[in-house]
Amino acid sequence: MRLAGKRALVTGASQGIGRATALMLAREGADVAINHYPDKAGTHRRNAESVAAEIEGMGRRALVVGADVALEEPSNRMVEEAIQAFGSLDILVNNAGILRDATLRNLTREHWDEVLDVNLGSMFNCSKPAAIHMREREKGSIVNIASVIALMGNIGQTNYAAAKAGAIGFTKSLARELARYHVRVNAVAPGFMDTDMTRAIDPEIKEHVRQQIPLGHFGTADDVAAAILFLASDDARYITGEVLSVNGGWYM
Ligand code: NAP
Repeated sequence: MRLAGKRALVTGASQGIGRATALMLAREGADVAINHYPDKAGTHRRNAESVAAEIEGMGRRALVVGADVALEEPSNRMVEEAIQAFGSLDILVNNAGILRDATLRNLTREHWDEVLDVNLGSMFNCSKPAAIHMREREKGSIVNIASVIALMGNIGQTNYAAAKAGAIGFTKSLARELARYHVRVNAVAPGFMDTDMTRAIDPEIKEHVRQQIPLGHFGTADDVAAAILFLASDDARYITGEVLSVNGGWYM
């Protein structure tokens, strides 16, 4: 097992790529804190609890933590809670993300801010307390989820592309800051993955995208989780500040 004895926190882990990542890290031996959006209705919590139950079924420890990662205080508290519960934190996966697509003329300032706050602000909010902890221990790995859209742009996604491109710049700068403390920081840039985030997209647009993908099909949440696992593990011990594309060749 590649992560035996490690402790991880995955944001937005109640579904999709975050869920697949939490399960894969646990399968490789890690205890995992599962963050979900703190919803009143309880669906997100229940989803997160089912991920936790699967992880506990593997014999690992799991912690369910509701926190809006767009907000600094709750994010800080969540990281602290994970460190307290597990005793330390070795891996942070900044995965939570949202879309609010519209061409610039129709994009509201509210949707600009929301996308920047959830996709990029969250990386500041969660990485800062985690990085301070990892720096003190002189070990750790942070993996940030960017997007192919940061590299190629897309109509109707100025907000999302800006946030994800920001995530790449953030990754490289933090990698330089933390390298001397043996803490690595990398990013994964998924292409078009079959998750809830993309399921609602018009079938015609999806088919148009699919035809541009050399491998001929969309990726899965597990395809991204495998790349995250690699970067989080010691297999990637000499890799920092890197952006690993998982996109079937759509953009190379
Ligand atoms: P998803 O199924 O929509 O999952 C997104 C996750 O983010 C959910 O678990 C959601 O939690 C969480 N989240 C959203 N806002 C949050 C907040 N304020 N606080 C805490 N958690 C929040 O999407 P996905 O496809 O798995 O995407 C995961 C990541 O990959 C995102 O960063 C996304 O931008 C990126 N990505 C995805 C694709 C793709 O094709 N799917 C491509 C490139 C990049 P709740 O369910 O609890 O609300």
